[in-house]
Amino acid sequence: MSKNNDELFKNVTGHAKEYGFVFQSSEIYDGLSAVYDYGQLGAELKNNLKTYWWKSMVQMNENIVGIDSAIFMHPKIWKASGHVDGFADPMIDNKDSKKRYRADNLIEDKIARYEKDGKTDKAAKLQADMDEALNADDLPRLKVLIEEHEIVCPVSGTRNWTEVRQFNLMFSTQMGAMAEGSDEVYLRPETAQGIFVNFLNVQKSGRMKIPFGIAQIGKAFRNEVIARQFIMRMREFEQMEMQFFVRPGTEMEWYKHWKDARLKWHLAIGTPAEKYRYHDHVKLAHYANAAVDIEFEFPFGFKEVEGIHSRTDFDLSQHQQFSGKKMQYFDNELNEEGKPYGNYIPYVIETSIGLDRLFLLTLCNAYEEQDLSTDEKQDSRTVLKLHPTLAPIKAAVLPLTKKDGLPEKAREIMDKLKLDFNMQYDEKDSIGKRYRRQDAIGTPFCITIDHQTLEDHTVTIRHRDSMDQERVAASELDQIIGKLVSWKNLLN
Ligand code: ATP
Repeated sequence: MSKNNDELFKNVTGHAKEYGFVFQSSEIYDGLSAVYDYGQLGAELKNNLKTYWWKSMVQMNENIVGIDSAIFMHPKIWKASGHVDGFADPMIDNKDSKKRYRADNLIEDKIARYEKDGKTDKAAKLQADMDEALNADDLPRLKVLIEEHEIVCPVSGTRNWTEVRQFNLMFSTQMGAMAEGSDEVYLRPETAQGIFVNFLNVQKSGRMKIPFGIAQIGKAFRNEVIARQFIMRMREFEQMEMQFFVRPGTEMEWYKHWKDARLKWHLAIGTPAEKYRYHDHVKLAHYANAAVDIEFEFPFGFKEVEGIHSRTDFDLSQHQQFSGKKMQYFDNELNEEGKPYGNYIPYVIETSIGLDRLFLLTLCNAYEEQDLSTDEKQDSRTVLKLHPTLAPIKAAVLPLTKKDGLPEKAREIMDKLKLDFNMQYDEKDSIGKRYRRQDAIGTPFCITIDHQTLEDHTVTIRHRDSMDQERVAASELDQIIGKLVSWKNLLN
């Protein structure tokens, strides 16, 4: 990360804490590593991001429905899905510092250093060697690469490494009152399996016809070996996943459809297109026949935000085998056409986005430090240019002074608007300072009540981004704001 980007990222995370977006979990006890809490404004922004996703998936698509499955599930599910045996990262310990690392992360850092030093051939060769080792699950080879490239522990600076071992990322706990004889259950590492095991419940009760999708938003837990970059990699996080069930043989068509549709969804928020890129997977997961990531350029580089995976019929077939229950769909249309295979296990295209990474992306993209100095005076502001529909507070009501009946008039306006919108009332400090406070939390509109309001019932609306002000009738405020923060502005 260059110095500028390093500083920018520090400022964004500092801002997130200072204004109540994100706090370190258990902070007064010195924190819990890779776990975070969302504060009063963070919770609002997160809810709005969820609503945006839910509406665009479930409300806008007649053939997609949403569910909310439990975090605890039968432990056999994770055997069937491959997580018990295969959901692991290669880790390595440094014997001097006693620090644990992901072996692939150490190598990636070395590749980045080679690139920075202009040693592009060396970087490319190491990347290829690492991909090959990861593809073959060849742990000794990863160790050899670490040794050959003289990778040192960032803490101790030594090369005194253990062997590379697999480390399962699932958290487990006991279900039932007695530890002895009770079952070990897992905290789900992804929400997708809750959808797969309910596939026939939803299909039958909702009379769904293929192609159709099931969407879900919920917590997932992974005991990540290392935590990095604030809320980018957490041990407790939230996913928004959609499984789209299709006829076998049509999956590539749908894969392309969702790959395009998901990028469009990101761009609708107003993020510049050059900040996004696709990254095709070289190493495919055991269940996939095609996979691509949507990556966003964070201050620390391009990183995955969302995955689109063609998961074949792997999961449903596994659940059919492990549960002994048929997971087949009867395709009436195929049957009518007289084609064989009217009964089949559907193929699945999955879209899977991390809500916390989307949150971080949104903050990084919205954060701007502006120099507003003129010849006469120095001035600056920090503004969060959030899409108005996503902003935690839609508008602030500000009486120009604390006297002459202005607060009473302002309260009257506030009480009416809060029936429809999340509002803030503020009468403390100068109007300029109050505008800056609202800029810093991304409030798109400030409504100022002044002496003219008492005479003709008009107010000013100040727009966050342009800082322009216009005078409008107080009676029209709900319509004006309603239009500016409507979900229509995002869902079109
Ligand atoms: P990574 O390679 O970064 O570990 P992944 O490929 O394991 O991610 P998936 O299993 O495809 O991730 O999960 C889908 C999405 O969930 C990711 O695109 C990401 O946005 C989010 N996600 C995964 N792990 C975490 C985590 N530890 N913290 C926050 N979000 C996460």
